[in-house]
Amino acid sequence: MPDSYIFILNDPAIRIALKQAWQDSIPGLAGGHEEGGFIVQDSANHLRVLQWPKGLQNSIVVPPHHGCQIGEQNIVASFHTHPNTGSDFLQEPGETDKRAVCDDPDLKGAAYVGEFVISQETIYLIMPTGQIREVDETQVVFAE
Ligand SMILES: [Zn+2]
Repeated sequence: MPDSYIFILNDPAIRIALKQAWQDSIPGLAGGHEEGGFIVQDSANHLRVLQWPKGLQNSIVVPPHHGCQIGEQNIVASFHTHPNTGSDFLQEPGETDKRAVCDDPDLKGAAYVGEFVISQETIYLIMPTGQIREVDETQVVFAE
């Protein structure tokens, strides 16, 4: 399904969890830190977020996820925030972000759509191929 990321982003529970992660990352000119997580699908086909441990100002460590799974649950997407809005920080996904997705052998599951990067203005998607897409306006997604 080429556009299944839209389905994921439209899931009300996922929107709430992403908005919470965005707020937890304390967006602003300074003092933010990255938050992120996996979006997994359980055996009842429900989507939920498994949050990663809190990151640093411009990096975050991804926990092990062998075979694009956490336990029995397939990882369908991942995400992290870019909370720092100052000009010293990239808003869009950078080269390191892109590599982290493309070069990860454990992010090659059939259901995996890519990694959402949430910035103040825009939600981006790094696709497994490394292409980057602007998928939505952050404040529109989080307004509901
Ligand atoms: Zn990043």
